[in-house]
Amino acid sequence: MKSRSLTIMGYTLPLCARCTGILAGYLLFPILLITGWNLPLWLGILLNFPMIIDGWTQKKKYRMSNNTLRFVTGIVCGFGQSIIIVGVSGGIISFVE
Ligand SMILES: [Zn+2]
Repeated sequence: MKSRSLTIMGYTLPLCARCTGILAGYLLFPILLITGWNLPLWLGILLNFPMIIDGWTQKKKYRMSNNTLRFVTGIVCGFGQSIIIVGVSGGIISFVE
């Protein structure tokens, strides 16, 4: 849906605002790896909830989201998923070693 994509200087991004935010959140993934910042798994799970609530309440037609909210909750969700991926893979590595 073009109306749900971000337009930057006249160019409409191919992904929706939410997915663009998730990808932007994934950019924090290498920072977690490099710094060795070991954030708790529950925080990673918790950070997914704003996007889930935003998407779910819109799907249920309780309210209408907007691209700014989609993008911001997407970034938060992408960062949360990065925490989960780094935490779980770190756990697997230490289990195998
Ligand atoms: Zn999307």
